[in-house]
Formats: sequence, structure tokens, C-alpha cells
Amino acid sequence: MQAADRQRFAAVSMMIDDRLAELIRRRPRTLVLTGAGLSAESGIPTFRDAQTGLWSRYSPAELASPEAFEADPERVLDWYDWRRELIARSRPNAGHTAVKRLLDALPGARLVTQNVDGLHQLAGARDAIELHGNIWRLRCAAPGCRHERYWSDRTAPAPRSCPDCGKILRPGVVWFGESLPAQALASAWQLAEVAEFVIVAGTSGLVHPAAALPFHALEQGARVVEINPDRTALSQAAHWHLACSSGTALPALADLLDAP
Ligand code: NAD
Repeated sequence: MQAADRQRFAAVSMMIDDRLAELIRRRPRTLVLTGAGLSAESGIPTFRDAQTGLWSRYSPAELASPEAFEADPERVLDWYDWRRELIARSRPNAGHTAVKRLLDALPGARLVTQNVDGLHQLAGARDAIELHGNIWRLRCAAPGCRHERYWSDRTAPAPRSCPDCGKILRPGVVWFGESLPAQALASAWQLAEVAEFVIVAGTSGLVHPAAALPFHALEQGARVVEINPDRTALSQAAHWHLACSSGTALPALADLLDAP
């Protein structure tokens, strides 16, 4: 371990009090909820970060909404091609690996993610519930056409025209103003209902309904730890707020399960 990593690790270890350590060692029924901050350390910008380069003059809503797609589909699809390229070059980071370790070590633990990049799955996380879809899925935008496919070729831009009807293909993600997939949302809600412990990492809590999940779990009596360098609407209500990066805090939590 490098000196800077050792320092960071020591700092987060001090934030993990005995009550949190004991809770994790009891192996509670756990829900892990993640957001864009978790992939920030893999080089994928969050929506709250300024967009970079070419795309800096657009807001997320101008690139990820049905209205934006309606107004200028080429611009939206170009942006998704750029994001897929970025994601294809990215690797899961220490936070993703730690989530996989937690899921493996905690019986019945489940992951609900708002991320669309597929990095959790690349890190080996099983049965992730993707609340906002997946950028590698494509579906036909034409009403009535049910064409859907997974685009796994990471070296080429995704096709734009539907092989069934010839209309335009869109990314299989949930845009601002759209409904979440009903099954995924129902499963996530149910998991929040029965969780004894919730780990919320890298999410601003500004995007609903995902933001309501930890509050629902709190109401049902769950203990909640939030991992975010910044404070959010959840910070006050959570039992613990670890003010550091997910790539530091999540491995520290997972390490507690290795200790004899
Ligand atoms: P968000 O952009 O609203 O918030 C990100 C949060 O992560 C912020 O609160 C920030 O303080 C925190 N953060 C930044 N770096 C961090 C780190 N290293 N460790 C821990 N936390 C860190 O993201 P959101 O809450 O997920 O909601 C935005 C929407 O954008 C979601 O719908 C999501 O689907 C989408 N999105 C996804 C990706 C992705 O898949 N990687 C990227 C950008 C946006």
C-alpha cells in the first residue's frame, strides 16, 4: 500500500466506529445502493460534475431526456456514443470490487444501482438491479416496435437503425422525466422494506424515486451508512456519514468481514 493510500485508509478507519463495525460483523440483511459517484474513480464523470470538452455547453437534461431526443436525436446519440467509448476504456475501481466482496460475504445482500455503465457487473457483482437501465442495451424508439438488444461490441459505435422497422434505436436507459422499469423499482422497494442495513454510496439523492429508498428503509428500522465526500439530504438522517470516497470507504467496510 502506498503512503497516501495508507493515510486515506487510516482516516476512514477512524470514521468507522465500534457500532458500525459490530453491525457489519453480525452480517445483517444488507442493501447496497450506488450512484454515479462510485464510478467517478473509474474516470466516468457524474452528472453533477461539469461535463467535459465537447459536451460542456449542454446540461444533462439537454442530452438525456425525451425532449432532447425529439429535438435532436443525432446530438443525443453522439453523446451516448462518446459515453460508451469512455466506459469501454474504464475499469471497475476499488469501490466496485469492494461491493462484490460485500455481496459475497453478506448472506442475502443485494445491489441496487442507478449506474448505467455496467461496471458493477464487470467487477463480478451478481443480480444487480439496474434502476436506470444499461447504456449497452439498445431499444427501438418507435412506438409499437419491441426491438431490443444488448450491444456488446465495445470497439464500434452502436447501430442507430432498428433492424425490424428501420426507425431509430435509442439507449436502454431511463432519461430525465421517464418512468423507471416497474419490476426493478418494485424489487428495490421490497429490498428497502426488509433490509436491516443499507449502504448508500456515491449518490447525490437528488434523483427520484431512487433517492427515497434509504428513507423508506430508515422508516422500517434499518441502519443506514452513507458514503459521500459531500453532505446530502440523507446525511442528517443516516446513522453514519463517511465523508470520503467510495473507493476508500467500501474496501474498509469489506475488510471488516475478513477480520477474525
Ligand atoms: P449524481 O451525479 O447526482 O451524484 C453523484 C454523487 O456522488 C455526488 O453527491 C458526489 O458528491 C458523489 N461523489 C463524487 N465522487 C465520489 C466518490 N469518489 N465517492 C463517493 N461519492 C462520490 O449521481 P446519482 O445520484 O447517481 O444520479 C444521477 C443520475 O445520473 C443517475 O440517474 C445515473 O443513472 C446517471 N449517471 C450515471 C452514470 C454512470 O452510470 N456511471 C454517470 C453519470 C450519471
